[in-house]
Amino acid sequence: MSNTMVGLVKTADGVGNMELRELPIPEPKAGQVQIEVVATGICGSDLHIYHSDIDLAMKLPVITGHEFSGVVTKLGEGVDSVKLGDRVSGITSFQTCGKCINCKTGKTNICQDKKLIGYWYDGAFANYIVIPEINVQKLPDNVSFHEGAVLEPLCCAIEAVIELTRVKPEDLVVVMGPGLIGQLTAQLAQLCGGRVIIVGTGKDQKRLVQAKGLGIHQAVNLETEDLAKIVTEMSGGLGADIVFECSGAAAAARSGLQILRKGGQYTQVGLFGKPIEINYELIAYKEAKVTGSLGQNWLNWNLAIKLLKNKRIEVLPLVSDILPLDRWEEGFEKFANGSGLKILLEPIAKLS
Ligand SMILES: [Zn+2]
Ligand SMILES: [Zn+2]
Repeated sequence: MSNTMVGLVKTADGVGNMELRELPIPEPKAGQVQIEVVATGICGSDLHIYHSDIDLAMKLPVITGHEFSGVVTKLGEGVDSVKLGDRVSGITSFQTCGKCINCKTGKTNICQDKKLIGYWYDGAFANYIVIPEINVQKLPDNVSFHEGAVLEPLCCAIEAVIELTRVKPEDLVVVMGPGLIGQLTAQLAQLCGGRVIIVGTGKDQKRLVQAKGLGIHQAVNLETEDLAKIVTEMSGGLGADIVFECSGAAAAARSGLQILRKGGQYTQVGLFGKPIEINYELIAYKEAKVTGSLGQNWLNWNLAIKLLKNKRIEVLPLVSDILPLDRWEEGFEKFANGSGLKILLEPIAKLS
């Protein structure tokens, strides 16, 4: 049996610098678990890694990919909460300090010294990944591997909607950006009782139609419809109670603050990849409550797994493509130009 595998590696800083490489299969140390990867999702942040415009700690070269599902194939010494053959996914923070105030209060996603898989530790665009036992998340029997690969972004949306923003029944909620996180954010906000408008541009038309198909109350194309007017009408002139900016586009952030009601809540989820220009004093004039949301922690996983198990959230219709790892460039391209939504990559046996 071969002891090598194929991984998608960010080799050096700078635009691009990603390639498939043959690498040794990683072995689990004490307290760690080896997982044979079944599927790994392409995330917006993987695109930022490609363009080298992400501000998270990286150690290169590194195998990328952090949204995965798979089967447990080897246990390190002392592992007793996970069995061989378990179907699993996993929390992306490989290493957190355990000592900072955020770790101690369960907010490991904002640990002072967080090191992630796919950034610092080898990630899941590969045949195998090794993660700490405490990060392993078991998939319920009725949750498929493809759903499992979408758990991590669902957790990120839960952190934004449930933990940080707390949508209430009848809140008028505007979600800027109908990408995967936007779609999940919209579904969660509706689950909490919000009236949701999801917003995109011309290139998002397919995604907007899809959101409507999944039951989102209203989908608005910024290029052909007047968002401000729609929000004004729906809110009796007040503005939106809550805005989630999930696109990482400066124009969306600007109009999000514009349509927010006085005393409303604005939550930044998307990443811009650079400083942006915005009318920041609107926050003061509106007494807006502004928060950011980054990543996920154990609490989010606990809820995400229940939501999938009990079919409260639909993630499979959001998976647009499943490609073998050696077609990763095509996957990244489809993701970037908006023709795909959640694109999963499956490991390949060897380099051709
Ligand atoms: Zn992600
Ligand atoms: Zn910490």
